[in-house]
Amino acid sequence: MSATDRPVVFRNGLVLTMDDAHTVLPGADVLVIGDRIAEVGVGLTAPDDALEIDATDGILMPGMVDTHRHLWQTAMRGYGADWTLTQYFVWYYLESGKLFRPEDVYAGNLLGAIEAIDAGVTTTVDWSHGLQTPEHADAAVDALEAVDGRFVLAYGNIQQGPWQWATSPEFRDFHRRRIDGGKLAGFQMAFDVTGDPAFPERAAFEVARELGAPVTTHAGVWGATNDDGIRLMHENGFMTPSTVYVHAATLTHDSYNRIAATGGSVSVSTESEQSAGQGYPPTWQLRHHDIPVSLSMDTSVWWSGDLFSAMRSTLGADRSREHLEAHAKQETITHCHLRAEQVVEWATRGGARALGMDSTIGALTPGRQADVVLIKNDASPAMFPILNPHGHVVFQAQRADVHTVLVGGRVVKRDGRLVGVDLAAARARVAATIDHLRETMGEQAWQRGMNPDIPETAILENPYQYTEWDAGSAQWKH
Ligand SMILES: [Zn+2]
Repeated sequence: MSATDRPVVFRNGLVLTMDDAHTVLPGADVLVIGDRIAEVGVGLTAPDDALEIDATDGILMPGMVDTHRHLWQTAMRGYGADWTLTQYFVWYYLESGKLFRPEDVYAGNLLGAIEAIDAGVTTTVDWSHGLQTPEHADAAVDALEAVDGRFVLAYGNIQQGPWQWATSPEFRDFHRRRIDGGKLAGFQMAFDVTGDPAFPERAAFEVARELGAPVTTHAGVWGATNDDGIRLMHENGFMTPSTVYVHAATLTHDSYNRIAATGGSVSVSTESEQSAGQGYPPTWQLRHHDIPVSLSMDTSVWWSGDLFSAMRSTLGADRSREHLEAHAKQETITHCHLRAEQVVEWATRGGARALGMDSTIGALTPGRQADVVLIKNDASPAMFPILNPHGHVVFQAQRADVHTVLVGGRVVKRDGRLVGVDLAAARARVAATIDHLRETMGEQAWQRGMNPDIPETAILENPYQYTEWDAGSAQWKH
């Protein structure tokens, strides 16, 4: 980030600092100098040349952190809205995903990266498992570097076993060229552990250890990964505090205990788990095992790409489960365990911690990087009154209310408009990708992929249908 940008001062906002005490400051200012937060408090003195932004009737909070997003798939936004994991595996891995050229990965990443900062998600892990060649990988990084956000590249290649791509000279060469001393905020290795007793993934874990790269892995995914993968990782010493377990929805206590004991964290993608079928969104389990949580949106080929949706769906799913479990025992929940404040913490600090960036991002405290989001929309009836600030962020606010966004002190969105972004060019690239995919697949296959068959619904017999409404007499006939 450029240190030459003007200082910025936000005036008179409701500040959710997300510091250790979760301090909330009404009518407060946030002063940004260079790439850092200089001061947070009431009536701050700012340098004469500071850009002043009125935060009255708005909420100031740290930039949000998404710890698992397949950005390349943004090119096919919404296409898989009615998929399950089964359709996803067939279409993305065997059909459309294979057809992605480097320029298509670039197009998806570029639009997804822009979408993230627009929604106040200032740090995103690009879980990039479509890197079929080094050219695809270069394209992914080129796109991330073209957008003023923080991006962690999680390198993966679904078309090969991780023991193949991770040990290839091309991968090493890529790491040397693009990661060492590069512009990205971080680097991870992204692959899944199938539970094969021979544990072929060992070779990839060894490379990750040698490179000092955290591993992020889809764990506890119904029908795909299970307790065996966790056990193999644990028995072979590859579960570390920097390991990120994505979903972790279909696991037993034993696996949760192994995750808790080794200090790793879980990236919960509630919208994904709810409709794809990995398992019930696991925060209700993770809370009991005291496992750190971060939030993620997974992919906008199916779902939304903003963390307001993640916070809202996660809070709802956790409470839904709590009520359901109680009702099964004829009990009533009178007080919910999970609070709005906690999911705001997961969307900010939780993500920062999962990425080992807790000392630099995730909170509005002096000295930290100035990743700041102002949620304010004077034209929206839903932005007044603001009484319960964390609850307001979770259940009332949405991406269109993101007024201003700073990343490392740089203004990337202001007054609801992206700054320095050529959205038309990004759209044109995605349009070209769609033309390519549609032409290559053929119209029939394209339509079939978007519209999976609906199984027949068995209508149960209804014993109460012995009466009939007679419209003439306006009476029930027996
Ligand atoms: Zn995923």
